[in-house]
Parts: sequence; C-alpha cells; structure tokens
Amino acid sequence: MSSSAIRQIAVIGAGTMGHGIAHVSALAGYSVQLYDIDQARVSAGLGKVKSNLDKGVEKGKLAAEDRDRAIALIAGTTQLGDLSGADLVIEAVPEKIELKQALFGQLEGTCAASAIFATNTSSLSIARIASGLRDPGRVVGTHFFNPVHIMTLLELVVHAGTREDVRAAVLEYGARIGKECIVVNDAPGFATSRLGVCLGMEAIRMVEQGVASPEDIDKAMSLGYRHPVGPLRLTDMVGLDVRMNIGDYLARELNNPAFEPPALMRKMVAEGKLGQKSGEGFYRW
Ligand code: NAD
Repeated sequence: MSSSAIRQIAVIGAGTMGHGIAHVSALAGYSVQLYDIDQARVSAGLGKVKSNLDKGVEKGKLAAEDRDRAIALIAGTTQLGDLSGADLVIEAVPEKIELKQALFGQLEGTCAASAIFATNTSSLSIARIASGLRDPGRVVGTHFFNPVHIMTLLELVVHAGTREDVRAAVLEYGARIGKECIVVNDAPGFATSRLGVCLGMEAIRMVEQGVASPEDIDKAMSLGYRHPVGPLRLTDMVGLDVRMNIGDYLARELNNPAFEPPALMRKMVAEGKLGQKSGEGFYRW
C-alpha cells in the first residue's frame, strides 16, 4: 500500500493508549474509528480525547478549529464490522498474545487485503502475533508512549517478513502525526523496554540492598545522567504490575537474570502498591 493511501484508521481498545492514538491520528487529519468491546470505555476514551484537546486550546497550543475538526473525525464503535474500511488498524488491547492474534485473525476476514495491521505491544514478538495470518507481511509494531499526545517517540518494530511498503507507509504515518520514528528489529523488548526495564530492575535491587533511598537513586540518574525521570519514579508511573510482567517475559525470552523482577517488587505488587495508579509505590502519589 502506498503511504498516501492511508485515510481511515481503526484503533482497537479505547484505554490508556488507544484514546491517545485516536487523538493524534485525528489531529493529523485521518478519519478514525475508536473500537472497544465495552461501550463505557469507548465513551470514556472519547471524553478523554476531548478534554486533552480542550487543554491544548486553553494553553494556546492548539487552535479551536483544529480541535473541532479532530473531534469531528473520530467516531466510537463497539461493532467490529464498522472497521472494514480501515487502511491502517492499530490495536491497543491488553498485553495478551492470544487476544491480539485472535483480533487480527477476525479482522483478516473483514478488512481489505491491503489494510495494514499494527500492534502497540510493549514487548511481545511481532512475528508471533502475525504468525497465524494468511499474510503476516502486513503486520508491524507501532509502539507509542504514554501519554501519546505528548510523547514524541514512535518505535516502529519490523519482523523479518514485514513488507517494505508496509514499513514505508507506517513511517510516513508517523511523520504525519508528528512523531520521531525509530526502526527496530523484532527482538524481545525492542530498544525501549529492553533498556528501560533493565535499568528499572537494577534500581529496585539497589533499594532492596539498601544502597540508597529511591529519591537519591532517581537523583543520581536525573542529575548525573540527565534522565528526565529517574528509574524508580518511572516504574511508579508505568505501574509495578505492568513492569513486573514485562520483566518476567524478558528474563525468560532473553535468558538473562538482569530482567528478573526483584523480591521487593513482587512483594509490593502483592500488597497492591502498584505506583501512581494505586496511590503508592516507591513514592506516595
Ligand atoms: P488499557 O487496559 O488501558 O486498555 C485496554 C482496552 O482494551 C480496554 O479499554 C479494554 O476494554 C479493551 N479491550 C479488551 N479486550 C478487547 C477486545 N477483545 N477488543 C477490543 N477492546 C478490548 O491498556 P493500555 O495501557 O492502553 O495498553 C494497551 C496496549 O498498549 C498493551 O499491549 C500495552 O502493553 C501497550 N502499551 C501500554 C503503555 C502504557 O503506558 N500503558 C505504553 C506502551 C504500550
């Protein structure tokens, strides 16, 4: 598919990431269908897009007409059949490989053969997600960062069979939505999660061993190494449970104990100390 042929975008999953992907796509002029199995999530997602666009207007970063045009370009739906006209489908459903495989399997039967299937997985193998499809070459990873309308990176993950035209079309989509794209081969954790999670796990081991306080370990990285956010604060922001699952997956896939979640992390997750979303992690929120 030629890149300029992407007009309609379907976003699957209207949660944390999905609503943000819908936001940046509509703002760039694409027509967007935001799909979720749960109508309440669709409505909440559309509401968040509107309030984030409103904030942009209040801060003087966005013209009111651009906000209104973006809102008019997004439709919410709980009917998978409504996505049949999409040129690019981006899934942002929970990090479960069977769920992602099943969704693309269903969509292969309803979308045009030329439609590109993109996954926002933060760690899973793109080739494995694509493996059950008749045309795995149409599948690519588009790893966005949270909050999507603020973070500028888009990590494009290509598996060995991703078609060249698919890669080119998605790179052009990334440029049009204003993201800086990097292209990474399909290895566990890609470039971002692999380095970020490794640093986070080591920082937790240092807290466990009493090397320094979370505050001072974070200061070491932010003032000494110019990281905008320290590894422990970042773990709190992502969610300890989410990072623990990624750590378990990467330790297994890469056969490397550096990714193994420390006992302190497992204990905190068991106690419900999940970070920002639960009000307590390495910090109080
Ligand atoms: P989330 O839980 O906030 O949202 C997931 C949404 O998917 C929910 O609204 C849920 O109702 C919906 N859903 C579940 N099953 C569905 C189905 N069968 N069909 C359609 N919708 C379905 O999750 P999230 O944080 O947005 O994460 C989504 C994906 O993005 C995951 O793969 C995650 O690893 C990845 N990711 C997350 C972050 C992050 O910071 N949260 C960052 C990068 C990548």
